[in-house]
Amino acid sequence: MRGKRLKQYRKLMQQYGLTFGFREPYQVVFDADIVRDAARFKMDLIHGLERTLHGKIKPMITQCSMRHLYTSQPKNEALIEQAKTYERRRCNHQNLEKPLSTFDCLKDVVSKGENGMNKHRLIVASQDEKVRAHMRRIPGVPLVYINRSVMIMEPMAEATEDLKTRDERQKIRSGLKMRSTLGKRKREGNEVESQDTAIEEDGSKFVLGSHSLPAATDNTRPERKKKRKGPKGPNPLSAKKPKKRTPPAPQPDNLLEDNNNIPSGKRRRKRKPSSRQELPEFAVLDG
Ligand SMILES: [Zn+2]
Repeated sequence: MRGKRLKQYRKLMQQYGLTFGFREPYQVVFDADIVRDAARFKMDLIHGLERTLHGKIKPMITQCSMRHLYTSQPKNEALIEQAKTYERRRCNHQNLEKPLSTFDCLKDVVSKGENGMNKHRLIVASQDEKVRAHMRRIPGVPLVYINRSVMIMEPMAEATEDLKTRDERQKIRSGLKMRSTLGKRKREGNEVESQDTAIEEDGSKFVLGSHSLPAATDNTRPERKKKRKGPKGPNPLSAKKPKKRTPPAPQPDNLLEDNNNIPSGKRRRKRKPSSRQELPEFAVLDG
């Protein structure tokens, strides 16, 4: 029974990989309850998930979920210590007087991206049925929960299935069998900050909408190359070329006469005589 289920999960993760670009290490966002329940059932949460998802995971917890653990009664220090080892997912709700509910926080974190899609390819591990019901409506959100000491991965939701078949049809049509339409994960794992921080043009980071987040330490993405403002030097197209002066080429006599007001060192433009003063005959003809 268990073997069969695990095989199903492997297939499921392959589909998520092909259709939505999920890659190891899978970024799994825990809520406070699943951390609590895993402890209650004496389950190793990380190990259980890696077996379920068939791959390495990167455990994450939002700032709100962390606060839920801190404020829960009775306070469980061991759990807090354990959760501290997970990567803190910045949800930018830390300035609120109270943490958001798991539902509001995760909803925001997962569907913040473009068109409410799961842009950062998060896997949601939540004990809250309401959370999972919401996530099923977003295409491409793998869902995991614990049911009486058994870790369950939900089958693909309809929204996901729809997008998957559409995607497959498109691939067949265009003959691109292996390419995922949603693109590949650009930088493994280092996407945490992208929601909360922006990169200034000079390469420095700042945090959006908050005052004093602790400086990101070991998880910072590699600094992007500085964007240069403006060109390096003078624009080669507009700069004058250092030019060797060559003696003016010998010119036919009639042209020299026309242009004799130009200093002799300069290059002359050959010009057809056009003004009336120079062509008195025409003036006469006109009048
Ligand atoms: Zn939050």
